[in-house]
Amino acid sequence: MLIDFNKLERPPEDQYDVCVIGAGAAGITIALKLAQKGKRVALCEAGDFDYSHDSQDIYTGKVFGDPYFDLASARLRFFGGSTNHWGGWSRSFEPNDFERDDMGEKYRWPIEFQDVNAYLIEACKIVEVDSNFSEEIVDAEHGIKRIEFKHSKPVHFLDKYADEIIESGDIDLFINANFYDFSGADRRVQSAHFKNYQDVSFKLNADAFVFAMGGIENSRQLLWVEQRHRGEFFEENLPIGRYWMEHPHFTLGEALLNEDVTTERYYSITSEIQKKFGVLGCGFVIQKQGDSATKRLVKDLLCVAPSIGEWAAGLAGKNLICAYRFLAAWEQAPDFENRVALSLTDQDRFGVPLTELFWKKGSIDRKTMEVSADQFSKWIMNRDLGRVRLDDWVYKKGEYPLDGELAGYHHMGGTRMSHSGKFGVVDANCKIFGSDNIFVAGSSLYTTAGYNNPTLALLQLSLRLADHLG
Ligand SMILES: Cc1cc2nc3c(=O)[nH]c(=O)nc-3n(C[C@H](O)[C@H](O)[C@H](O)COP(=O)(O)OP(=O)(O)OC[C@H]3O[C@@H](n4cnc5c(N)ncnc54)[C@H](O)[C@@H]3O)c2cc1C
Repeated sequence: MLIDFNKLERPPEDQYDVCVIGAGAAGITIALKLAQKGKRVALCEAGDFDYSHDSQDIYTGKVFGDPYFDLASARLRFFGGSTNHWGGWSRSFEPNDFERDDMGEKYRWPIEFQDVNAYLIEACKIVEVDSNFSEEIVDAEHGIKRIEFKHSKPVHFLDKYADEIIESGDIDLFINANFYDFSGADRRVQSAHFKNYQDVSFKLNADAFVFAMGGIENSRQLLWVEQRHRGEFFEENLPIGRYWMEHPHFTLGEALLNEDVTTERYYSITSEIQKKFGVLGCGFVIQKQGDSATKRLVKDLLCVAPSIGEWAAGLAGKNLICAYRFLAAWEQAPDFENRVALSLTDQDRFGVPLTELFWKKGSIDRKTMEVSADQFSKWIMNRDLGRVRLDDWVYKKGEYPLDGELAGYHHMGGTRMSHSGKFGVVDANCKIFGSDNIFVAGSSLYTTAGYNNPTLALLQLSLRLADHLG
């Protein structure tokens, strides 16, 4: 059933099994699975079924540290959330992401790879991609493997699921319902409080509450609950908003490559190489360029290394190598200082402080990119598969360029999973430490970020949470 909070005259009196707050990929997935299990679900969405300035303005925020995207355009605040403009690139975590105990407590997930992987097929069905992700080690010495990304068409959750949810007898979908507070007692929330755009408040009662408001908003709203109710609903001094992570994305250079490399577009470095050099995961994309780029790269090579240049010119003349752009997206280390915080001066229309995001790439992040690019270049050179030319800023240790992609719009960490409240906010069941009934869904849960796009894995974790709650 659809209930528009903007048109509501009386608050609903129902008691729900679960109140899911936020109807993006995570919230919709959980609501649907809980409904399949016969649970009564309130799915509460701040926006409507389309973009509106009233809602989107609440995503305004300030960024400190490295250059990053405008927070108001780095996500969408209406039904379907950021899937209304996502790219659809899908690939999940790797076993290695859950095997980093030697790097310290900060890197330790409280669950195992298999706990997530058990939901791969189900999650792939949601984004309509095949769940068979092939990979192959192409150079063990330099630790390079071919990997596969799947491309969802991309599935927009609004188009795919709005009707099914509205028609569901077990889900009440509330739109224009802006979460802003909880009430209850003894570490147990009884009601979630919402406001519509006329500033009228309503509350909904449920046995369990799920924060599914996205990779920045989950932290902002939880920090706000903590500020108003310190120690009332969950443990004090949890690192809420901390260890926020992105995937830095940059073009690292150009390459002349032969078809042994270019039949597949995606590569990454193996876990062995990550361990050997003390770095994290990194993925590469190669993108074909035109004939003029091939000629230019061959000419440059003839100037700096004539014998290799002649070899390359011979192959280019027979169309056996051509020019590619060489791009990377890599895993950022969880760093306590990278965080979502509450503004001390600016508030949204409901009185909740706006977001301040502190984000910097650190020394491990730089080393991950440099080591990975070096290993890839060595693979290409040692096997005579072509030549890679890294941009000056990469090998001369210059500043990151400002004209590139910067990052992936991947908002991770902030309410991360951990073994205790020292390094995380939720336990292995996504429940906030010390709380009786507040759970979190989405990529804010990630203990570590992996190097792949986040949505497929957050769907897997959402399905797992629904099984736990169901
Ligand atoms: C341009 C772009 C391209 C991307 N491309 C890819 C890609 O190719 N592959 C990939 O894996 N990922 C990609 N992503 C990331 C992907 O979109 C997100 O990982 C995913 O959509 C997150 O889903 P979510 O449900 O956790 O959060 P969201 O999509 O942010 O959904 C949260 C929902 O909560 C609602 N909400 C917020 N505040 C409140 C409140 N106070 N009360 C009630 N409801 C609230 C919002 O309106 C929204 O509907 C991309 C993102 C962007 C921006």
